[in-house]
Amino acid sequence: MNIHEYQAKALFEKFGVPVPKGAPAKSAADFDPALANFAEGTIVVKAQIHAGGRGKGTFTDGFKGGVKLCPSRAAAKETAAKMLGNTLVTAQTGPAGRKVQTIYFTEACAIKKEYYLAILLDRASSRPVIVASTEGGVEIEKVAHETPEKITKVFVDPAYGLADFQVRELIFKLGFTGNEAKNAGKLIRQLYACFWETDASMVEVNPLITTAGGDVLALDAKVSFDDNALFRHPEIVALRDLNEEDPKEIEASKFSLSYIALDGNIACLVNGAGLAMSTMDIIKHFGGTPANFLDVGGGASKEQVVAAFKIILGDPNVKGIVVNIFGGIMDCNVIAQGIVEAVKEVGLKLPLVVRLEGNNVVAGKATLAASGLKLVSGDTMADAAQKIVKRVA
Ligand code: GDP
Ligand code: MG
Repeated sequence: MNIHEYQAKALFEKFGVPVPKGAPAKSAADFDPALANFAEGTIVVKAQIHAGGRGKGTFTDGFKGGVKLCPSRAAAKETAAKMLGNTLVTAQTGPAGRKVQTIYFTEACAIKKEYYLAILLDRASSRPVIVASTEGGVEIEKVAHETPEKITKVFVDPAYGLADFQVRELIFKLGFTGNEAKNAGKLIRQLYACFWETDASMVEVNPLITTAGGDVLALDAKVSFDDNALFRHPEIVALRDLNEEDPKEIEASKFSLSYIALDGNIACLVNGAGLAMSTMDIIKHFGGTPANFLDVGGGASKEQVVAAFKIILGDPNVKGIVVNIFGGIMDCNVIAQGIVEAVKEVGLKLPLVVRLEGNNVVAGKATLAASGLKLVSGDTMADAAQKIVKRVA
């Protein structure tokens, strides 16, 4: 789960990570009360969407920049009005962009230097890794590609936590001395506490900045949480913004289905993540492109299968459907009944290839046959994949 910058900064403040003063606004009526928090002077107006690269982004009406420095409160209000409700396209949103539904006003900082600081989970070493660089503010992927020597990585042993020598190593590599070193050390420890205590999968500060007065602040904030740990953090679940999520994925999560929308045209209904992965691979192998990853799980009910099938049929990009079920615990007849029920409710005009195997498969095939549903059966995975690829081509 992701949250907005203004929410991430409120979380940072709870852990003592310094951020510039800010106030969010969700409607034009909120602008004046939000701006009343600031002294007259330069104010930064920031579009809140779950994507980075806002500063360099462009709105669909041609207005440039989702992060703007404004010389006065009046100018900030004018800029905010142009951003709110407008659609911002950045390198991370895809061409469709994201509609801006919240604005964040922040006090402008006089930046001495921009740095990069992030903490994420490194899967290879199964440890949190702190990634830092003196090249902040720009795309870190570019730095990693062109000048990897400018990126420092510190791996933290989760049993010991972040050690003092590791904090010193980071400070040394970033070139901090004096007051800056003291403040940066404190910030790194507090950011690590924030990452650890909230079960985050990533906290990213780009840029981390220094000021002429020796302060070190998080000027931008991006935080993602591990969905599997959210049950421990109801206060974080409350920050979820459904406007930023794919409606199909929200519907799927209501029925405990693992569904990820992709950009191809062959929908897959599968049980088990491993089988879902191999089904997508084999579709690709035979020249097709999957429209989604959908795992109905090991013991799906008929209602879940109906919901899953309806989600698939609701995607206008879908041109064909392949059902690939290996019934271990899953009863093939439950799948068959779910498909029949869903088609009865919403109809089916697309080619459907079904491959059922395993537990109660004879009854499942009988249910499909008795329904009069127009479908093609696949004998093996390869056969089913080839048949659906041929039909959507
Ligand atoms: P992003 O483009 O989505 O990553 O949004 P950021 O919050 O990182 O802002 C983009 C850029 O705007 C930053 O890298 C800064 O260079 C600039 N910026 C943001 N806030 C301030 C500020 O308070 N003062 C100054 N001088 N620049 C700022
Ligand atoms: Mg940024």
